[in-house]
Amino acid sequence: MIASFDWQSRVFMTLQLHDTLQGKKVPFVPLKEGEVTMYLCGPTVYNYAHIGNARPAVVFDLLARLLRRSYKLTFARNITDVDDKINAASVETGKPIDEITARFITAYNDDMAALGVRPPDIEPRATQHVGEMVAMIKTLIDKGFAYEAEGHVLFDVSSDESYGTLSKRDLREMIAGSRVEVAPYKKAAHDFVLWKPSTPELPGWDSPWGRGRPGWHIECSAMAEKHLGTTIDIHAGGRDLVFPHHENEMAQSSCAHDGAPFARYWLHNGFLSMDQTKMSKSLGNVLLVHELIKTIPGEVIRLALLSAHYKQPLDWSDETLESARRMLDRLYGAVQGVEVSEADRAAADVPGDLIAALEDDLNSPRAMAAFFALAKELNKATDDRKRITLAAQMYASGDLLGLLANDPEEWFAGHATGDLASDDIEALIEKRNAAKAERDFETADIIRDQLMAAGITIQDGREGTTWRRGQG
Ligand code: AMP
Ligand code: ZN
Repeated sequence: MIASFDWQSRVFMTLQLHDTLQGKKVPFVPLKEGEVTMYLCGPTVYNYAHIGNARPAVVFDLLARLLRRSYKLTFARNITDVDDKINAASVETGKPIDEITARFITAYNDDMAALGVRPPDIEPRATQHVGEMVAMIKTLIDKGFAYEAEGHVLFDVSSDESYGTLSKRDLREMIAGSRVEVAPYKKAAHDFVLWKPSTPELPGWDSPWGRGRPGWHIECSAMAEKHLGTTIDIHAGGRDLVFPHHENEMAQSSCAHDGAPFARYWLHNGFLSMDQTKMSKSLGNVLLVHELIKTIPGEVIRLALLSAHYKQPLDWSDETLESARRMLDRLYGAVQGVEVSEADRAAADVPGDLIAALEDDLNSPRAMAAFFALAKELNKATDDRKRITLAAQMYASGDLLGLLANDPEEWFAGHATGDLASDDIEALIEKRNAAKAERDFETADIIRDQLMAAGITIQDGREGTTWRRGQG
């Protein structure tokens, strides 16, 4: 179990997570001591991921990094590579399905890597697990939880007493409130598809119910079972997946496994919005990670995504990015110029208050505050040894948060706050030195102020004038 000493409250802290099923924050205890299994619903690969889609990838990457400090973690993030939206994209573009999915799997992984998301341990693809899905569907039919009708297999929602407990929905209300036209082969409106027939031009697999393809929900249940076992510790995804996707996954898995719990902890991130409207492909108000990373450093986007607690809504704007960029300038500014050896780095650990913040249901804003407190301490420190120790702690913290992976010099040379390019800065410094040589101190001071306003610190020394981005 993760335990760290919190100096302020003087108690040992353990990891607490907010579980959607219990509706509250609870201490985290894995099924097997020392080991954790985690499953995150991954992308459906028919176009580029937007930053809303990146939010679960980034926040649960942070959770994975935290868990790996104390546990042997097995983390699976699937790829949905069979889906009606993929089929539609193939019809629209005239490109074969395999070409579309291969292209967007690569793009997704490249884009997430740019945001510091480490690859999961297992990245199962739906199309490679159809056998497992068919087997699970057969089990559900045999146990009386599913029925076949006109080439479809449907989950019989009324057979599962627990249905609705994750999303806190009452089944009778759902049925009474349903206005959806019920497909003739369904016994009840809320029965959902486990298997459906495919026409010859659509992807399909042979099955006891004819050639067809799986429903989306059974994909995750079958892949989680295959790679992580009957009961997994943590199941994560965005809030919009609670219903119907996760409710249905839970129904399928626990019914197939004689009532064994599917996931011990359900974690859901809040929505990312723009102008208070949820970012979504269907609304078209999306910012693609693929585009953003062409001009904005991945760490800036990552920090912006971690600037709010994962459960809270996050409204995205240019200001979100600008403030993240300024924060990174401050962090890089603190460690710039401090030589930290490999040995110093290896000996350093993350400060207790930062860990305690993350152990408190992944409170990333509080963790960032602790990170800044450390940077401030480093800025104030004058003793060389102390500066090295603090900088090493900053790098250890950066490693945990997925930040500070660049060399500070390169960071400031590449993408600092101010609009000034390095060449412009050098030219201004030359002009200032020329003014000083002519004893035109007024001009020299104006130039210094101009540089300061752009976030550039200059230092006059015997070897000439040096400069760096960041203040203080
Ligand atoms: P999708 O490809 O639409 O299935 O989404 C992939 C992941 O992104 C899921 O975990 C969704 O819940 C999540 N997601 C989609 N839109 C948003 C959003 N605007 N904010 C946060 N998470 C989102
Ligand atoms: Zn899923």
